[in-house]
Formats: sequence, structure tokens, C-alpha cells
Amino acid sequence: MVKIGSHVSMSGDDMFLVSVKEAQSYQATALMVYTGAPQNTRRKAMDQLKVDEALDYMQSIGFDPNNVVVHAPYIMNLANPSEEKRAFAVSFLTEEIKRTAHMNANQIVLHPGSAVGKDRPQAIKWIAEGLNQVIDNTKDLSVKIALETMAGKGNEVGKTFEELNEIISLVDEKNRLSVCFDTCHTHDAGYDIVGDFDGVMKHFDQVVGNQYISVFHINDSKNEKGASKDRHENIGFGYIGYEALLKVIYHKDFLDIPKILETPYINDKAPYLEELAMIRDKTFDPQLKEKIEQKV
Ligand code: FE
Ligand code: FE
Ligand code: ZN
Repeated sequence: MVKIGSHVSMSGDDMFLVSVKEAQSYQATALMVYTGAPQNTRRKAMDQLKVDEALDYMQSIGFDPNNVVVHAPYIMNLANPSEEKRAFAVSFLTEEIKRTAHMNANQIVLHPGSAVGKDRPQAIKWIAEGLNQVIDNTKDLSVKIALETMAGKGNEVGKTFEELNEIISLVDEKNRLSVCFDTCHTHDAGYDIVGDFDGVMKHFDQVVGNQYISVFHINDSKNEKGASKDRHENIGFGYIGYEALLKVIYHKDFLDIPKILETPYINDKAPYLEELAMIRDKTFDPQLKEKIEQKV
């Protein structure tokens, strides 16, 4: 059974318990949450996250807590030229890692950062410096920080495998780092996910090392390879396509790695129950979007 699910919400009074129930409603075997709104840094106190309730519930339905992934908010930037803002990012990420550990999750996905001043080597140094501080602040924890492969929109760092490797090489405790491999982002960054996934992974293995991959984001793309755009599309409806994504999902080298869909809602409705069914059945449904649109 592949470990696959989607990002789910964590909100209201029941917080993490709501996330697990939402994942269950999609028949998912993995899930990803933001600990609050991804576009801000307001967060609830740890004792309000309903962690014990969520863990009990996971046990009752046989959901493996190792397949829970946390995603850090994307507004913090470890490469911000402002020293004050970098310090804020370090302290916020430190707290996020404590929350992740409190939730019994073992990894948090992070967008490495953005080279605001366009000086990429400097940005990479700041990111690594920030990571070293965060790791030092959370020495007693084993949560991994999963650096995400980025599409290269704007001045995003992490568009190439080489950049990810540069960051990793500057971090002391490498066992606290891993990589989140996003299919839409790597395709948009110019890697041939469609025609030569094996070749791309061979390249990744040479530059970074496949053992670093701790989670995949499985998304189709609204744009052509190399567009540097980062606009996700539903599975099978974009430029990557159903067959290529299925090949990633069932690739023998990565069967054990949790996989998370971050595909767009259709008419304000979550597509995940249907998309996951289409993945399980290994049959593409060209009517999927219409079916979800008409759901009541
Ligand atoms: Fe992300
Ligand atoms: Fe992603
Ligand atoms: Zn994205």
C-alpha cells in the first residue's frame, strides 16, 4: 500500500483531530498540515492542538503517525537581507519544530528562502546559517527539516539540485535535514519528470543523494516544463500527466516515502477522495473534474 494523502486543514477547536478525520474521509494513508494559516505566523498554544485526541484517533483507525508531515508557513524567509527578519524566521521555525515534535511528526517541509537582493550565494549562506541556529535551538529533537525543491518563481532558492546541495553542505547536522521533492516544482524548474523521471532521479542522487528524500509532493502542473511558474494542476489534467505521475507514485525506489497531493480545489470542493481513488485504481478518469464540480 502506498503512503499517500493530501494536505488537510488544522483549524477550529479540534485542530489536529480535524486533520486526521479529514484525511480519513479521503481514504488517505498520509497527510500534511500547516499548524495555522500558511500565509501568517499566528499560532495556537501547543496544548490547544488536540494532539492526544488525534493520536488516539489515528491508532483507532490504523493511521500511521509516521505518515504525518508538517509544512512551515511560506512567508518566513531565512534569506531575508534584514537581520531582524532573519532572526524572526529562526525563532518562528524553532517554535514550529517544537510543535511538529509535540504532534509526534518527524518532518517539517520548508521553502528554503528567497534571494530578495538577488545575491544567491549570500542567500544560500544565510539559509544555512539560519538552519544551523534552528537545529542548535532544537538539539534534543529529531524532527527533520525537509527542504523543498522549488519552481524558481521570483528569486526562490532551491530551484536546482545543486543549490539544495550547497545549503546541505553548509549545515553541520546533516541528519536533521532531508528533501521534499515536488513534481510540479521540479517540472517547472526544467527537469524532465515527464520523459525521464529515472534520469532526473539519477541526477538527484549524484548531486544530493536519494537517501535525503523524506516526502514527495505529487502535483500536476498548469505550465510547460521550465516555465518557473509554480501553479499546481489536478492529477492528469496538466503538462505532467497521469502516466508520469503514476510512475513517480509507484516507483520502486520510493515506495516507502510518504506522498502528498497539493492539487487545487474544484468549485470550492476538495478533489482528494476522487484523485486518490484514481491513483489506487491506476485508471485515469477524464470526467473527474466534472464529477467533482457537480458534487453536492
Ligand atoms: Fe511547499
Ligand atoms: Fe509542494
Ligand atoms: Zn507549489
